[in-house]
Amino acid sequence: MIDNFINGAFVPSSAQRSLPITSPLDGSLLDEVLCSTAADLDNAVQAAAAAFPGWSRTPIKERVQVFYRYKTLLERDGQELAALVSRENGKTLDEAVAEIGKCIELTEFATSLPQLVIGDVLEVSRGVECRAEHVPLGVVASIVPFNFPAMVPHWTIPNALALGNCMIIKPSEKVPLTLQRVAALLKEAGLPDGVFNMVNGDSEIVQAICDHPGIEAVSFVGSTRVAKLVYQQATHRFKRCLALGGAKNHLLVLPDARPDMTAQHVVASMSGCAGQRCMAASAMVGVGAVDHIIEKIVEEARKIVPGRNLGAVISFEAKQRIERYITEAEQQGAKVLVDGRNAQVPGKENGTYVGPTVIDRVKPGMAVATEEIFGPVIAIIRVDDIDAALAIENASPYGNAASVFTQSGSHARFVMEHAQAGMIGVNVGVPVPREPFSFGGWNESRFGAGDITGTPSIEFWTQLKKTTVKWDSL
Ligand code: NAD
Repeated sequence: MIDNFINGAFVPSSAQRSLPITSPLDGSLLDEVLCSTAADLDNAVQAAAAAFPGWSRTPIKERVQVFYRYKTLLERDGQELAALVSRENGKTLDEAVAEIGKCIELTEFATSLPQLVIGDVLEVSRGVECRAEHVPLGVVASIVPFNFPAMVPHWTIPNALALGNCMIIKPSEKVPLTLQRVAALLKEAGLPDGVFNMVNGDSEIVQAICDHPGIEAVSFVGSTRVAKLVYQQATHRFKRCLALGGAKNHLLVLPDARPDMTAQHVVASMSGCAGQRCMAASAMVGVGAVDHIIEKIVEEARKIVPGRNLGAVISFEAKQRIERYITEAEQQGAKVLVDGRNAQVPGKENGTYVGPTVIDRVKPGMAVATEEIFGPVIAIIRVDDIDAALAIENASPYGNAASVFTQSGSHARFVMEHAQAGMIGVNVGVPVPREPFSFGGWNESRFGAGDITGTPSIEFWTQLKKTTVKWDSL
């Protein structure tokens, strides 16, 4: 049974309900997670509030020493953590190793915060100075999804804590195991008790977080449906909130794009992490004569084999949902060029695999063209010109990412200027900005202001204290 982590110790939850945790790789039962109650959350908030005065008054250069040590622990235990990520999430071991690498990069960024968070001071009139400094908020919460059991929590943990806050994190009830190890490593790195707390559970505990008067700020990453609920509920309680939602990312492919490189990027983007990335390519808009590139995409997709270089999707329900999208598109006249339905991995018959799927001749109004599929599926829509391609991208209510593949600088610039998405790629299939640049979409991919990572995260995790000082000189 998975425990909560409160005040530096693993403690049982008072929950009456529990949920099984199964491995998508083979369907085996890994553990059980208890659905914590508001009383469990309250214990965590009290522990965090008690730790806050000491931690927030610790100089930032001292606070980040914990994260220098933590980074070396992530390096020491990287393989073990990656194995855990793969087992509970279903992604391949290589993908899980890359995910831990990203956690290390995010932790490195947090160690640079003392250089970035310096305030301002100015003598505004003779003998009078104004100072502005970033001070922590207090107890903050982070609610995370299943698709990156390690990386998404590291979008928030190192920065929020290094900036002096105390945190309560709510792991996804589908993948709570990795964060158990993270809690133990943070303690080993010397993080004082109560600064980092973890409460497991499902929607009930999320609602309790949004309602709790002792929590100042809530960050959320997950689907747009839940992001809206969390944003509304948390801000209704006057909390600061940044809620990242789902996505429908378009790759615009022009006829002059380099065929091999483009095909590799399209297929890697749609099939990496079994398509369960908010940055995954889900629709490709082919502009004009792109048959030669689609042929290459089909070739590349056939190299992706479930159980070898393609992981499992999170659950049987997810597999059914993804296969429904494919079948519906086919019934509506689209052409399935590579079909990932009914994928089986020998010896892992209870695993939940969907093979790579390429669907051509998709019409813009079809569900497979407009909705987030969250599986290794690319829907290809054909248009005559770049204006029509951009119109499809910009008609999406989401706005996480968009990429263009071309050798024309002018066409690339046109897309860079006009695409309504927070993260744009040029000849890049997964345009995730790396630190110190920040991660964050637009429109229904994000509710609230600012970005969750990089330098802009300072704005979210701190508030400005302005002090006016007057001392007469001797
Ligand atoms: P989800 O929205 O189902 O769950 C996210 C979190 O919300 C979990 O901790 C879950 O316990 C909780 N939750 C679920 N239903 C709830 C409810 N009704 N009320 C309150 N809380 C609830 O998302 P998921 O399936 O875990 O993750 C996949 C989604 O996350 C995809 O839509 C993906 O695009 C999105 N995502 C977005 C980003 C981004 O940066 N924009 C990053 C990663 C994932």
